[in-house]
Amino acid sequence: MSATFQLYRLQQVDSQIDKAQKRLDEIQRIIENNTELKRAKAYLANCESSHQSTEKTLRQAEAEVKKQHVKIEQTEAMLYGGTIKNPKEIQDLQNKSESLKRYLSSLQDVQLEAMLAHEEESETLQSAQSALDALKAKLIQQNSQLAGEQGVLDQEKERLLKERSIAQPAVPEELLTKYDQLRKQKNGVAISSILDGSCSACGAMLTQSHQQKARSTLVYCPSCKRMIYAS
Ligand SMILES: [Zn+2]
Repeated sequence: MSATFQLYRLQQVDSQIDKAQKRLDEIQRIIENNTELKRAKAYLANCESSHQSTEKTLRQAEAEVKKQHVKIEQTEAMLYGGTIKNPKEIQDLQNKSESLKRYLSSLQDVQLEAMLAHEEESETLQSAQSALDALKAKLIQQNSQLAGEQGVLDQEKERLLKERSIAQPAVPEELLTKYDQLRKQKNGVAISSILDGSCSACGAMLTQSHQQKARSTLVYCPSCKRMIYAS
């Protein structure tokens, strides 16, 4: 068996390892760093804070209305209690009562506005929570599928590494050095085969004599400069 054949075999194994590793890295990234989930959590936290804020505003408005009711009751109790006889004082109390009632009405408007704002915020919060729950459920399912795929790929990688440990020692040392260099420079592919008279890696046409030569000695693709394996 020629040295380039051994090298080509090693390349095939390495390409499969690269492919498995690329997908494994991708899976790891998906599981660890889900931007969609981060965004949904941040949005929910935002909604919670707005919800708390509208709730506080509403409670304050309610307290103001209650306080105003008490003031009105007290004023009217004095007014109709029968203890105050002086017409001037009665008139003053009547004026005060009317003024308190007018202010009550504007406080009630504020309360109503606060209530509507809080209701709206509650709905937004609820839909944010539902969206997050749905996303989490989706991710649990997705992650279990990914974990399954991860397991299969790990096994596959282990098998390929064993295969590699058999293929590598068959390659002469100086070829292996070249191979490693080219792998780094050429996107993982150091040696290509001939496909319909062309370099299988870059597609460049190879002359008949070049192809002939590749069968007996080490040649390089004139275009991409990868080593050529001729079967
Ligand atoms: Zn090429």
